[in-house]
Amino acid sequence: MDRTPPALLLALFSLLCRGQPGGQPSNEVNLLDSKASQGELGWISYPSHGWEEISGVDEHYTPIRTFQVCNVMEYNQNNWLRTNWIPRNSAQKIYVELKFTLRDCNSIPLVLGTCKETFNLHYLETDEDMGAKFREHQFSKIDTIAADESFTQMDLGDRILKLNTEVREVGPITKKGFYLAFQDVGACVALVSVRVYFKKCPFTVRNLAMFPDTVPMDSQSLVEVRGSCVNNSKEEESPKMYCSTEGEWLVPIGKCLCNIGYEEQGPSCQVCRPGFYKSTPGNARCSKCPPHSYTHHDGAVHCSCEKDFFRAAGDSQSMACTRPPSPPGNVISVINETSVILEWSWPADTGGRKDVTFNVVCKRCGPGQLQCEPCRGAVRFLPRATGLRNTTVTVTDLLAHTNYTFEIEALNGVSTLARAQRQFAAVTITTNQAAPSPVTVIRKDRTSRNSISLSWLEPERPNGIILDYEVKYYEKEQETSYTILRSKGTNVTLSGLKPDTSYLLQIRARTAAGYGAPSRKFEFETTFSISSENSQVVLIAISSAVAIIVLTVVLYILISRWAPECEHGENKTPHFILRLPGIRTYVDPHTYEDPSQAVHEFAKELDASGITIDKVVGAGEFGEVCSGRLKLPSKKEICVAIKTLKAGYTEKQRRDFLSEASIMGQFDHPNIIRLEGVVTRSKPVMIVTEYMENGSLDSFLRKHDAQFTVIQLVGMLRGIASGMRYLSDMGYVHRDLAARNILVNSNLVCKVSDFGLSRVLEDDPEAAYTTRGGKIPIRWTAPEAIAYRKFTSASDVWSYGIVLWEVMSYGERPYWEMSNQDVIKAVDEGYRLPPPMDCPATLYQLMLDCWQKERNNRPKFEHIVSILDKLIRNPGNLKVTANTASRPANTLLDRNSSDMASLRSTGGWLDNARTLPCKDAFGGVGYTSCDTLTKTTAE
Ligand code: AMP
Repeated sequence: MDRTPPALLLALFSLLCRGQPGGQPSNEVNLLDSKASQGELGWISYPSHGWEEISGVDEHYTPIRTFQVCNVMEYNQNNWLRTNWIPRNSAQKIYVELKFTLRDCNSIPLVLGTCKETFNLHYLETDEDMGAKFREHQFSKIDTIAADESFTQMDLGDRILKLNTEVREVGPITKKGFYLAFQDVGACVALVSVRVYFKKCPFTVRNLAMFPDTVPMDSQSLVEVRGSCVNNSKEEESPKMYCSTEGEWLVPIGKCLCNIGYEEQGPSCQVCRPGFYKSTPGNARCSKCPPHSYTHHDGAVHCSCEKDFFRAAGDSQSMACTRPPSPPGNVISVINETSVILEWSWPADTGGRKDVTFNVVCKRCGPGQLQCEPCRGAVRFLPRATGLRNTTVTVTDLLAHTNYTFEIEALNGVSTLARAQRQFAAVTITTNQAAPSPVTVIRKDRTSRNSISLSWLEPERPNGIILDYEVKYYEKEQETSYTILRSKGTNVTLSGLKPDTSYLLQIRARTAAGYGAPSRKFEFETTFSISSENSQVVLIAISSAVAIIVLTVVLYILISRWAPECEHGENKTPHFILRLPGIRTYVDPHTYEDPSQAVHEFAKELDASGITIDKVVGAGEFGEVCSGRLKLPSKKEICVAIKTLKAGYTEKQRRDFLSEASIMGQFDHPNIIRLEGVVTRSKPVMIVTEYMENGSLDSFLRKHDAQFTVIQLVGMLRGIASGMRYLSDMGYVHRDLAARNILVNSNLVCKVSDFGLSRVLEDDPEAAYTTRGGKIPIRWTAPEAIAYRKFTSASDVWSYGIVLWEVMSYGERPYWEMSNQDVIKAVDEGYRLPPPMDCPATLYQLMLDCWQKERNNRPKFEHIVSILDKLIRNPGNLKVTANTASRPANTLLDRNSSDMASLRSTGGWLDNARTLPCKDAFGGVGYTSCDTLTKTTAE
């Protein structure tokens, strides 16, 4: 019998393990390692003559315990080896790593038929250790284990044994522990080591966040783990990672940043050492203190300035500390009569800053006078006396023959922080003799046909004693033939002049230094006498002038009746509207061949660098509407609205967008939105207007339902009417007047906005297509404009009536949810909106007047403004409400009085008339959406 002695298997074991890798991966946690046990493992063999426990040595000659069985000569082998109870800890999925050797059956003579080359691995879950009790049938099979490499007798001869390593997964394990069992059915096998482990995601630090040891789940799902920031760091975005079933960390999200005073070093935040600082959180390194600054402690967030060095308010922590400059040097003065040019050199030490400026102080010092006094206001500095960036200044308008001292001081951004004494360079000069300054004030005392008497004031700076004045005069346009008079005093009478003739005159003063510059030219006219033949000519002239004026007025009246019909959309004739002088006329930008010329004619081009956008406040057709600020040179910063043209626009869109500015730019009225300017030379293209804090009127009223007094509402309406009067006087027809197109500022001032050409109606979500194809906001538009596009100031008046209704009903939708078709039909049949709740009768009457079918019967805006003005002056006239006064019978709401009383008594008027579907609010008329409307009038 050739049975390999079991002892031999182990004797050779030290050879076969050579070269096997030693350590195990860090994410594996052992539950059992047979190699770690020096003493007997005490596993149970069934039957007892089957598996045998044997001592051996591993590759390091460390003693280990192994098991072997080799009953290959006997039939029906069923040898079990069971481990001790293994607690599973937190593991769900278990790995079993087996190392074993197995003898090749072919290499054992005479055993064919009985010899096997596999053994079976089983397990059993239990909640407690069952001791030596063993029941074969309780175990579940994990797998049959076969050898990748088996060995032969020859291998034994060569002293090479081949070690097999097999790993199997078991899980999920749910009970507290388990046993493993190895079933031999007739193989020659030596179990060299058994290791049982589970995998975990080990503690790690990623992006400065710590993730604890985490045991994965058995299923495919990942475990989400939140990290906590390492010491001295803060979450920037909450850190997270996922632990995979394989014990690997995946998908790090978020991070922590080192606090100020700490820097990132490897997986931790280390404090900044003395001499270093870090003023912002983040992963930057600590920086060395800039020049002239220091820190003496750990964790500095900024460095302090050395003595006599400072940091200005706007200086960053990374800037060196600086000090005031030294005084300027080498002051040179060049005197020219009563002016002086001062020049000096740059300070030797600028204190480490570039923002050096100079101030020049002028002092007047009398001869022998010890103390100087500040120069008086008349002295002029060019370009100015303070904040000079260059090293020169020109001082003019000094007194002649006078001593002056100029002190020149250099300053920089930290001068105000340094308490040191002022240091300056000074120069003293004496001005020269100078001619007198020009006479500036000349008065005409008396004029006659042939003479004129004049007087004047002495020049501001005579620069000496005035000896006399020279008066030169001549007939206008006859400069070559002049007359000169001299006067010791400050008045003269010129005689021998021609009647009714214009003369020009100049005066100059003379001192010992000579003549001063002449005054500017002064024009006067002698009076004219009427001779009998002249008087006839005059009479004819006067009567012709009167006739021309009367004719002009008559023509104006005639044409102004016709003019509003020359609306901008259809008859582009604004250039031909005849208006009285003084009233400007709207010019349609479409009449320009090049529309961008119109923009630049009417709108100021703004420098985009002066515009700051703060936030988006609305959406326009062409892009966002933002609020922001506009700073123009030498003006205060103001709040503005900025309409932008979105990227990717076509040339036509750009033109249409800017056309609003071309129109708005022509208007100048407190109730019309004011254009500040446009940006067309850089992108994005913008229209900048004044900012209206309360946004559009309709939403403003809805937000403040029933919160205003009637007088406040009338005040707003008056503003809108006044803006519209201005537009109609200019010959501009708005076409889309509605509360949504009125803007309200913080003082409740309402201003008309939304100007445009084709845009007007394209842009308005209320606009609907009519049968004639155009897009029209039906509910706001007069019938003639809907029917045949007759847009005039009178159709704007109709829309004004609707705005009046919107205002008095706090932003209610005109005609509620009636369809556009029903609105057209009802209005055409003579129905009108009912009075809003508590609406003064006078205002409701005004609405009805605006909604006269015959457009010439509607009031003009002029008239509307004066009606509202009267109501504001006499608020008593607003007391009677339209609901209590007798209402006209053709209003859409026409219920019998008992119904109205019940609505009123339950306080439900608002809920019913203002917000209920119209079929509840109206009596029936037979419209599809409102079939209970009634028409009780004979229109
Ligand atoms: P528009 O394109 O003119 O209809 O403007 C769209 C929205 O932007 C309006 O409904 C307002 O809410 C807002 N808006 C426009 N102009 C101004 C402005 N001058 N001041 C404040 N908000 C404005």
